[in-house]
Amino acid sequence: MSARALIDEALSKVLYVDLTRKTFWVKSRPELFARYLGGTGVATQLLKEELNPEVDPLSPENVVVLAVGVFTGVYPTASKVVAMFKSPLTGNLGESHAGGRAPVAMRMAGFGAIVIKGGSESPVYLSIHDGRVEFKDASALWGVRSSLTIGKVLREREPWPGLRSIMRIGRAGEMLVRYASVILETYRHFGRLGLGAVWGAKKLKAIVVGGKRDIPVADISGYRKVYKELFDEITKSPAMQKYHDLGTPVNVLPLNKIGGLPTRNLTSNVFEGAEEVSGEAFAEYSLARRVACAHCPVACIHIAVIRERYPHEKYFYTTRYIGYDYEPIYALGTMLGIKDREGLLRLIEEVDVVGLDAMSTGVALAWTTEAFKKGLISEKDTIVRPEWGDWKTYIEMVKYLVTQPNNFYKTLAMGVKKASEVYGGTEFALVFGGNEMPGYHTGPGAHIGYLIGLRHSHLDNAGYSIDQKYVGKEYPQPRKLIDELVEEEAWRQVLSSLVVCFFSRGVYKPSTVSKALEPLGLKMSEEELRKLGTEIYKEKLKLKLRLGYRLEDLKPPKRVFETPSPFGNISEDYVREALNYYKEKILNLLST
Ligand code: SF4
Repeated sequence: MSARALIDEALSKVLYVDLTRKTFWVKSRPELFARYLGGTGVATQLLKEELNPEVDPLSPENVVVLAVGVFTGVYPTASKVVAMFKSPLTGNLGESHAGGRAPVAMRMAGFGAIVIKGGSESPVYLSIHDGRVEFKDASALWGVRSSLTIGKVLREREPWPGLRSIMRIGRAGEMLVRYASVILETYRHFGRLGLGAVWGAKKLKAIVVGGKRDIPVADISGYRKVYKELFDEITKSPAMQKYHDLGTPVNVLPLNKIGGLPTRNLTSNVFEGAEEVSGEAFAEYSLARRVACAHCPVACIHIAVIRERYPHEKYFYTTRYIGYDYEPIYALGTMLGIKDREGLLRLIEEVDVVGLDAMSTGVALAWTTEAFKKGLISEKDTIVRPEWGDWKTYIEMVKYLVTQPNNFYKTLAMGVKKASEVYGGTEFALVFGGNEMPGYHTGPGAHIGYLIGLRHSHLDNAGYSIDQKYVGKEYPQPRKLIDELVEEEAWRQVLSSLVVCFFSRGVYKPSTVSKALEPLGLKMSEEELRKLGTEIYKEKLKLKLRLGYRLEDLKPPKRVFETPSPFGNISEDYVREALNYYKEKILNLLST
């Protein structure tokens, strides 16, 4: 690999925070950022250095790393921050990406990464501004019903100049629901794998971060040229236009049409109410505006409005704004049989207010509904009577997930895997590696992808996208599928180290990334970049193995084989052969 040096010294600064002792220190780690470019690559190394693999994820000893990359604040759509931690949901590696203003704010504050250790005895929030770090009392914020109120209060309490981000947990994080989220600004989240519960266990209510420093580049005219090319490609590409026009809900109708839309706990692959909850219907009847993460010209975040009349007042209304994406529409909509658009928005809003991951929550409620109908649990457990489409009851259940008034909700708050082990129904518990299923039943690629993806997310290797490429054509043999999935996941390690939004992955090809690094003073060929992706993939896999990951446990739930996909029923033999080859491939990779 050619020699690389970082131009921006501030990016190489890692802020270490000890919540137990209320102290902080800064270390300069240029070798780490020059080698791994930031994000996932750097966070993996920092977690390896700091985390004892044996610790309880919900103890103060768990460690959280937040990291940005060399493209952050420099190129368009490098608008994400990576969080890494030990997940309380899976007991293994937790990795979650979020946008909003946080990535650029962190870099403007003068840090490439933040490592959070220890736990506070009483609620606290961190205020990080232009290199200054303060621990502030959050007792008055603890227990506040809405995570949105926390954002409003902190906006007033921390009125600094420069770009600023407010990341905070809701009641679900405080109550240690193992799929609690961290909410950024108002409409972005670290949703998956329970970062919110880890913060809750540390009594960390929020982090406010920001600053206004400049970011140096080595070759300003070269930078301007590359920037313009990237900007033009991003703003003119039809793929990005569709994200701007309808947002990710553009997926609802195409998935329904091919028979890949998980419905009512995947008892069906098509939803009769798809038109009502489609991106087109939301845009037509509910869309209020679009917003963007900082430094993104796409603005894919779609915000709906709902109007509510004040009681006893005839012409007085309050308006509320709710962000909607494909994944909440799937998990809280089609999976629960909800086609009432306004009801679905109210359910999405409640999940956000309490600070839960929409996907895990939807799958948990869907599993509960089926378990209830099958008589595995009764009204004594659920308190209410769950029924497909009944969004009002689901809102009540979301509240119970947070307050946990009985053993059933206490167990469900630990995830669907745990609940199904205790109450039965593992065959229809849609869980992969301990994580609840994303919204694609598109074929073997999606499900094998969730299983082998290192964070068990559809975004690891985009198996759903490989499936859709082959609809109407001959499906690849198991070995070819695994090769495609692993190759894609390895390349994505570079993108998530930089840390660019995956929606622009078609723009940030290896040749483009190599070209974009040059004006920053970093020289890497396409081949070197690909090798780096494989190296980070291996490093993450090794960390997962240290945390107890067992390849022999990889097994999809039975339901996946029962409900037809766009390729008909998925063959168990196909999946078995693919997984056997994957294990062989991984062992070979680790031995090199
Ligand atoms: S495309 Fe959407 S999610 Fe990605 S950075 Fe832009 S606004 Fe954020």
